[in-house]
Amino acid sequence: MSLDGRYDESNVFALILQGKIPSTKLYEDEHTYAFLDIQPQSKGHALVISKWSKARNILEIEPEALCQVMASVRKVAGAIRAAVQPDGIHIAQFNGAPAGQTVFHLHVHIVPRWEGGPMGFSAHAQGDFADADALNALADEIRAHL
Ligand code: AMP
Repeated sequence: MSLDGRYDESNVFALILQGKIPSTKLYEDEHTYAFLDIQPQSKGHALVISKWSKARNILEIEPEALCQVMASVRKVAGAIRAAVQPDGIHIAQFNGAPAGQTVFHLHVHIVPRWEGGPMGFSAHAQGDFADADALNALADEIRAHL
């Protein structure tokens, strides 16, 4: 899907917000929702989305919704740092399929990075952090810092 198009009400993040499919929740407030990525690029890889905006990408999002999302990114990134002690934190956001976007509900990635580790995004999970039990245990650790 390119930059132009319609918001799909049944995209996977809309279904997560509706409670129709499960997610490993880290944080939630009135406007935003943060959860662990199911195909993590590193230990602690999380996503933050707006609960109310129907924006597919950054060109569409209401400035207010973007501010709410980024405030939650900052908050959750701090908890992830405290939990997994990375050397760096990669904040990423993709717009349109040619830029790597696969889910068309605007989301911001929080990806902890370590010295000497991979820096790019891969189509597959990196490491053994995608196991459901591992994700739940990690979420407990991160939530303890919020
Ligand atoms: P993007 O390439 O920026 O559109 O990223 C979409 C991200 O959503 C990828 O990192 C996927 O691993 C992640 N993802 C897809 N489905 C789920 C899901 N059900 N729960 C958590 N993360 C998901």
